Formats: sequence, structure tokens, C-alpha cells
Amino acid sequence: MSKYLAKRLAALEAYVPGEQPQDKKYVKLNTNESPFPPSPFATRLARQAAAGLNLYCDPECRTLTEVAADAFGVKAEQLIFTNGSDEVLDFAFLAFCDETAPAVFPDITYGFYPVFAAKDGVPFREIPLTSDLRVRVEDYLGVKGTIFLANPNAPTGVALGRAEIERIVAANPHNVVVVDEAYVDFGGESALPLIEKYDNLLVTRTFSKSCSLAGGRLGIGFASPALIADLKRVKYSTNPYNVNSMTAAAGVGALLDKEYFESNVATIRKNREFLTDALTALGFDALPSSANFVFAKCSDISGEMLYKKLKEKGVLVRYFDKARIREYVRITVGTAAELEALLAAIRAIKEGK
Ligand code: PMP
Repeated sequence: MSKYLAKRLAALEAYVPGEQPQDKKYVKLNTNESPFPPSPFATRLARQAAAGLNLYCDPECRTLTEVAADAFGVKAEQLIFTNGSDEVLDFAFLAFCDETAPAVFPDITYGFYPVFAAKDGVPFREIPLTSDLRVRVEDYLGVKGTIFLANPNAPTGVALGRAEIERIVAANPHNVVVVDEAYVDFGGESALPLIEKYDNLLVTRTFSKSCSLAGGRLGIGFASPALIADLKRVKYSTNPYNVNSMTAAAGVGALLDKEYFESNVATIRKNREFLTDALTALGFDALPSSANFVFAKCSDISGEMLYKKLKEKGVLVRYFDKARIREYVRITVGTAAELEALLAAIRAIKEGK
């Protein structure tokens, strides 16, 4: 840290993203990316857009907005596009949290939430998940804060139904409820239809997982026009050009190539069931996942040890050095071949090899 760093940032502990190692080729099951390349239509549109990179991109992402409004059945004023969904979440912390509306989220959830809060100087409160790592809806009824719920939750993969989310949104009419649906396409029930009924609901989604565009950085926020206007106030005060032209074009292609999207999601769901069953047969306890990852623990090897030994064997999974979940690893659902390689490595580790 230099002597010039602003005092308010001195204690900030930055978010640590999952490893993106360049030293060798790993079976990479650690950051919940898609194992499939983007839709060929998406990459074609992105290449065409590259020819126009001499001009600034459209800050309103008009073509993408039109296509998305149609794809999701919402109005253009109910949408904002951002640089990954991390950015719309960041905007939401800044726009909707302060001393009178502290951020509220589970103790075990997406690790970026406390970092956003700390960066923005926003107070926050964590509500413990139940002992079996579930969100208890009753804990979120009338909490007097801005609620952030990943649904399905990360890193557990466990999802609440729409009716449960609705209870929370309805019980907090004086605060915004943010439902982070980064993983919803893999089996969760979206709260999106509720934005027509509740003006305090913000639903966020990403193109990083189910649309194979993690490197493109594209996220969406869906909410009432008034909440979207608030978020745009932050966006236009930060970086109006937050979504570059190639990424916006790739987003259009990804949304229009529905067949490719659906086929990839179906494969991931099938592979997730295969992985869950295989881990269970190997003596793991796997939480029921509605996402593109499985959170599992094994009674005879700690999460950290398993993570380390798998890495030695060229397989990357995610381990969280955090109370209550140290026994677990989070495994991204990859291709059938990647999962076979993972399972072979686990069998070898269990046999002491
Ligand atoms: N929410 C959750 C729960 C996540 O796990 C992630 C991925 N790290 C994100 C949001 C952000 O993803 P992105 O910025 O790539 O859209």
C-alpha cells in the first residue's frame, strides 16, 4: 500500500477471484464458467462489431436492449446492461444502501457482497444460513435493510422458489430486495415476473455462465423504471461506456441463438446429476444444486486437502477458507470428459495415490 492511498480504503480487503492459472492446462472446474465456447452466431456478431471500434459504443445498448426486452418479455425502461453482473451489483450497493438501509445478506453467499459494501462505506449485516446451509425465509421478513440474495445461492447451489422470494419482497416494501440470478438458468425459478408487481425488486442476471460469455463481461439488471433510472444515475456517473460494442453484439447473438443456449443448459443439467450421483457413490455429501456447480464434502478428506491434491493432479476446484464451509469444495459442472477426469483423480486420492 502506498502512502497516497485514501484513508477510507486502507482497511479494504479486495475480492479474490478464482484462480485463472496460465502455467499449465488444468481441468478447470473452479470458476463456474461454461465449458462450451460462445454461440458461433455471437462470435460472428462480435467480430463484425470489431470493425466499428474507432467509435464509442452506444451507452444505452439500444440493439441489445430491444432484443433482450423481447427475449425476456419486459420493457426497455426495465433494463440496464453492465460490465458483468458484478457491476450491476456494485451499482446497487452504491444506489440503495446507506446507514438507514444497510446491506443484508446471508453469512455464506457470494463473497463479493461484503467487499462492495466495504468499498462503498456501507454498513452490512450477515444473517446465518441454517445448519444445513439453507436460507430461512422468515429471517428476511421486515429486516430494515437492502437485501441481497443470490438465488440459487453461491457457493451452495441451493435455490428458493419464486413464492419464497415473493414473501421476502412483499415483507420489505420500504427497502430494495436484490435477487442475484447468476445461476438461475440451470434450474432455479426466476423472480423476474415479479418486477411488474413490486417496485422494490431488482433481479440481476449474467451472460457469463449459461451464455458462455464470461470473458465478454455482460450483466443485466431488471427492475421498475424508477429503480433502473437510479442505477443509470450511478452508471452515467461512473462509466457510460461500460459495455463495449463487441460484447453488446455478442450478447445479441447469444440471446437470439436460443437453440444453442438450451442445448448447453440441458447438457450441464444432465452432467450435474451425473456428478452429484458419482460423488455420492464415492462417499461425498453433495447439496442439491440448481446451479452449474456442486458443493460437496467428503468425511475422510478436508476441503483444503482435496483442493490441493486435485490441483497437483491437474484438476482445479474451488475451496473457501471460511468458517462452516471448510469441509467443502465447489466443483463447476464441466463436460462429461472433464468430470470423468475429476472423478478418476478423486478415486486415486482416496486410494492414497
Ligand atoms: N453473482 C454470483 C452469485 C456469482 O457467483 C458471480 C460470479 N462470480 C457473479 C454474480 C458475477 O458474475 P459476472 O460478473 O461474471 O456476471
